[in-house]
Amino acid sequence: MTEEIKKSEKEWKQQLTEEQYKICRSRETEPPFTGKYLDCKEEGVYRCVCCSRELFRSDTKFDSGTGWPSFWDAIDANHVRLSEDLSHGTRRTEVSCGSCGAHLGHLFTDGPKPTGKRYCINSAALDLNKDR
Ligand code: FE
Repeated sequence: MTEEIKKSEKEWKQQLTEEQYKICRSRETEPPFTGKYLDCKEEGVYRCVCCSRELFRSDTKFDSGTGWPSFWDAIDANHVRLSEDLSHGTRRTEVSCGSCGAHLGHLFTDGPKPTGKRYCINSAALDLNKDR
């Protein structure tokens, strides 16, 4: 089990930018083709912007054409949490940070090999560490 990080709404508001807060804590979605990591090809580890948990590796990032950074695998299945999201009149799998519960994006099953998965993730929820 991963360690749970719990902070009050006030603490998250102080720590995060308004955009980060809206997406990670209020489960909103950044507009497509706007995020800073959409076309990023730099090598490194993408961490949770809220709690720094390692989430995705750059070598699993691919261009999905959807307008959001996309990965075909998570760095560790225990570092993300999957749940059913029935909002917006549709059934989707929500992806959250396994440590702090931050909303990251959604998981789809139309990704490339070898997993066939597409983790569709908001740039604003991520922080790329290029040194690892
Ligand atoms: Fe987190």
